[in-house]
Amino acid sequence: MHDTGANLTRLRQRIATAAKAADRDPSEITLVAVSKIQPLQKILDAIAAGQHDFGENYLQEALVKISAVKNTQVAWHFIGPIQSNKTRDIAAHFDWVHSVDRFKIAHRLSEQRPDGLPPLNICLQINISGESSKSGVALAEAAELAGRIRDLPNLQLRGLMAVPAPADTLAAQRRPFARLRELQDELNHGGCQLDTLSMGMTDDLEAAITEGATLVRVGTAIFGPRN
Ligand SMILES: *Cc1c(COP(=O)(O)O)cnc(C)c1O
Repeated sequence: MHDTGANLTRLRQRIATAAKAADRDPSEITLVAVSKIQPLQKILDAIAAGQHDFGENYLQEALVKISAVKNTQVAWHFIGPIQSNKTRDIAAHFDWVHSVDRFKIAHRLSEQRPDGLPPLNICLQINISGESSKSGVALAEAAELAGRIRDLPNLQLRGLMAVPAPADTLAAQRRPFARLRELQDELNHGGCQLDTLSMGMTDDLEAAITEGATLVRVGTAIFGPRN
């Protein structure tokens, strides 16, 4: 589990196998390597192995890593909970934010996106399993939020993200992902142009790919367990 390059090769194979089983082209699926809590060296190893997209949950930790690798063509994805006082740095240093679940945060990200950078790519985080402890907007409120965020000038609303409650069987894992895909269809019929379903992690990426994930966020299978 300590050879990041070999783990990445195995994981890409796993993604390709799941895509083919679902009659999908593996090139439709972006792999975001979730490097939270992992040392910088593992990120550098992953970059050397051709990895392009990285996900981080904690802003201060992420800023250190981003400045350490700033000469490479890496895309950074913010995937953790967002407090208002963090939006300025997130807007300045990330390419994607997957964890937007209220208008106030989106509005600040748009206002604070520096001139000269392309629009910040946004996913709405949906509380797909309806857990009271989880972040994410409720399913019933997603359309209204999407409608408001869609018009913000320095953001591009790209899609939906979810972290379902853990489930044991493939069938049970698939259900919330199918629901997220249905929500994407509903929003697109309502005038959104969403092309991204950010769903699937180490333990459920096959289920997510079967249900149409275009972006999987994987940490443990690449970098090993987090301490
Ligand atoms: C930590 C994390 C991941 C990666 O989880 P693994 O099980 O290690 O693959 C993906 N998405 C989010 C939002 C996370 O917080």
